[in-house]
Amino acid sequence: MPRTPHVAILGAGPVGLDAALACVDAGWPFTVYEAGQTAGSHVQAWGHVRLFTPWDLNLSQRMRAHLGEIPQDGSCPTGHELVSRLLHPLAQLPAVANRFRHGTRVTAIARAGLLKHEQIGTEARAAAPFTLLLDTPDGEDTAEATLVLDCTGTYSHPNTLGDGGIPSPGERTLGHRITRTLPATDDPGRWAGTVLLVGAGKSAQTAARDLGALPDTRLEWVVRNPAPDWGAIENDTLPGRQELVDSSKELTDGANPRVTVHTGARVQALHTDGDHIRARLTTSGDPRDVLVDHVVSLTGYTGDPALYRQLQVHECYATGAPMNLSAALLAASGAGADCLTQPAPGIAQLRTPESDFYILGAKSYGRLNTFLLRTGYEQVDAVISAYT
Ligand SMILES: Cc1cc2nc3c(=O)[nH]c(=O)nc-3n(C[C@H](O)[C@H](O)[C@H](O)COP(=O)(O)OP(=O)(O)OC[C@H]3O[C@@H](n4cnc5c(N)ncnc54)[C@H](O)[C@@H]3O)c2cc1C
Repeated sequence: MPRTPHVAILGAGPVGLDAALACVDAGWPFTVYEAGQTAGSHVQAWGHVRLFTPWDLNLSQRMRAHLGEIPQDGSCPTGHELVSRLLHPLAQLPAVANRFRHGTRVTAIARAGLLKHEQIGTEARAAAPFTLLLDTPDGEDTAEATLVLDCTGTYSHPNTLGDGGIPSPGERTLGHRITRTLPATDDPGRWAGTVLLVGAGKSAQTAARDLGALPDTRLEWVVRNPAPDWGAIENDTLPGRQELVDSSKELTDGANPRVTVHTGARVQALHTDGDHIRARLTTSGDPRDVLVDHVVSLTGYTGDPALYRQLQVHECYATGAPMNLSAALLAASGAGADCLTQPAPGIAQLRTPESDFYILGAKSYGRLNTFLLRTGYEQVDAVISAYT
């Protein structure tokens, strides 16, 4: 590892941008590769949703130091506000903008001259630079780096909706008719008719609340757990999160006649039926068919491991997150804990067998959905201090 690393930052979400600021502060050469046309592309895609963490928790010390005007109040921004008031201004700072390649997707990473199984854990492997294969607006390209931070998030890799985490029969054929992002309801006509909603996490709860409020929409909400607690946290200090739990409970209790919550249910199959989609649900009783116009699948997101397939990354067999971090998270609190009480990550948890390669941000949590921006900024601190 040379004294001054050349850093490749993959993804210009909040965590990638914070890593860029850290490189600016350290005086390290770096390049930010962002697949989207602008910074914060994933956040923009769910921009209509209000975060449940206030501005204070969404900002790092570096962001405060680099941006003159920064929101200080205790309000919770929407994703759009986070992008326009924080992420875009950060990406436009000259020290970042000069090193920003937008519309550039990193598609694969390797150690130059070495295959995945070669030079396991040796200094020779650590000394070889990384080669990145890029899809750019002008075609394919390659780049080199000596330290790689994979901050590519998870939002473009949704999980499927079938039982056990595999696609249900019919799901792949009907893929073009399934929405896997949080539905915006500013055009209610878009969701007129009956919607099948699958999932029970915070994204699905948000969708249920918003779709349930539309007068011309009926909702069939499929939830695996027979008695969901909706992730309730005693004396929750985040009111936005508590409100979601409350509204999900009310919907389960039948408060809205346009919403049916199928608890303890799974989607067994999807079929085309004229202009509709027929969903076969299995519950503790007999299978039941529902005829719907739209399918919204919000069963979670998991980052793309294909990117680092040629590197020596040890993934957790349960979560898909890097092994050390996953073990620490599961040991500290299990899979369903309060994200506010997670342990701060140390460099030992972030290391993988591939030296100088780190998965940071939402992607570092694999299938776990308790990631907070605050944790991502702490991860950046941990990596940068290990090299300075
Ligand atoms: C609806 C929703 C609400 C949330 N609310 C909160 C909240 O209230 N508080 C909180 O702390 N957290 C919240 N989170 C969780 C988390 O903080 C966010 O997901 C956050 O955006 C993660 O930041 P990130 O930088 O890790 O990744 P992302 O924001 O996902 O950014 C990744 C970036 O990488 C780019 N990219 C992807 N693949 C490639 C590639 N191969 N090459 C180059 N670029 C690539 C993407 O275009 C994207 O810009 C929420 C998440 C969601 C989905």
